[in-house]
Amino acid sequence: MRKMTICGGGNGAQTLVPVAAHNLGCHVDIYAPFADEADRLRAGVAVHGGLEVTGALQAKARPRRVSADPAEVIPGSDVVVLVLPAFAHESTLRQVIPFLDEGAWVGAMPARGGFDYAAARILREQDRDDVTLFGLQTLPWACRIGEYGQVVHVLGVKNTVDAAARPASQIGQVAGLLERMLGLSIGPAANGLALTLANTGQLIHPGIMYAHFAAWDGTPCAAGDVPPFYHGLSEERAWVLAGLSDEIQSIRARLEPALDLSAVRPLKAWLLRSYGDAIVDPSTLWSAFVTNRAYAGLKAPVRQVSPGQFVPDFGARYLAEDVPLGLAVSRAIAGMAGAVTPTMDRVIGWAGARLGKDYLGQDAGEARSPQRYGLESVEQLIAFAAEE
Ligand code: NAD
Repeated sequence: MRKMTICGGGNGAQTLVPVAAHNLGCHVDIYAPFADEADRLRAGVAVHGGLEVTGALQAKARPRRVSADPAEVIPGSDVVVLVLPAFAHESTLRQVIPFLDEGAWVGAMPARGGFDYAAARILREQDRDDVTLFGLQTLPWACRIGEYGQVVHVLGVKNTVDAAARPASQIGQVAGLLERMLGLSIGPAANGLALTLANTGQLIHPGIMYAHFAAWDGTPCAAGDVPPFYHGLSEERAWVLAGLSDEIQSIRARLEPALDLSAVRPLKAWLLRSYGDAIVDPSTLWSAFVTNRAYAGLKAPVRQVSPGQFVPDFGARYLAEDVPLGLAVSRAIAGMAGAVTPTMDRVIGWAGARLGKDYLGQDAGEARSPQRYGLESVEQLIAFAAEE
């Protein structure tokens, strides 16, 4: 490993830089084309002597180079990792791929839904069948920037994260590198479809938003009354998460005979596997959320409408990312597979109305669904996932 490049300038990207540099002992560059982030990162790193992670993880490292120009940082990279909200994947890939070395690996952390459909199409357009793709099922950390370009706080670390590769046969090598890079266990998912269905952010984020706010009457609240996002989940509304998880399992059951989808775990099993001892009471799905110490302190997304008055922020990534690049992708797959999805339909319908989109109707094509990339049947979906 000569060097890797991390794309992005947010919480996850600023965590991965010191973690990867420390664990791999290689040069790490940052590609940060968004707004003035490259300048701000350089300034922060200069003041603090590097990027530092504190809290549940500790590491500090100085990126070798930070640039908003892909020509300055992408060439010479063995691995390029996108640590970005999924809506920025396609534009970033289009900027990065022309500068990749022969045989480089490019991945997304996390992949969310349908990353492989979008990325494979761009590779095909640019005639780059030498490039290996990979994706992680989630970000390994809950992390928040403390001081931009200087310090990131890691609130929690998952025990295990699943990853998939394309071609799928590369997963052994990819998982080995990711384990060394991240310092945690990587579970191999057999293909990209498994990763898309196993994306638990698509269930947890829109599901809890629905549980908190579907019955909201429009009245702003004081700062002290903003509900804790995870720990504030009410027991009687936990059915939303159970319903979404069951529907993913029914999609899995319909596709499984043809493909290995064993990485698509029920939500409670995923929580226990990911967080282990951080969960004080693992007896029910609801208790596993509200007693998970890794979720402590995280509030529901709100925006201030007048001094000291807050309303839910329906534009936050919990809906804006996790529906079109998550739940609506799985819903599109369910439609092909003939799975019935009443809970998904309810949550997507409600979230879409908040976002001004009809993802079950006229705006379905805006989701990163297989149909958007020319995969129209279960047979095509399975053939794509199994392609070498
Ligand atoms: P973030 O909100 O901190 O990332 C924002 C960054 O993304 C920006 O700083 C910019 O670099 C880039 N970006 C945003 N819009 C862009 C655009 N239009 N074009 C190009 N770049 C753009 O996000 P994060 O917290 O680092 O999360 C990254 C991913 O990890 C997301 O998918 C998120 O849902 C997921 N995730 C985050 C956490 C966490 O604790 N931070 C936990 C689990 C999953």
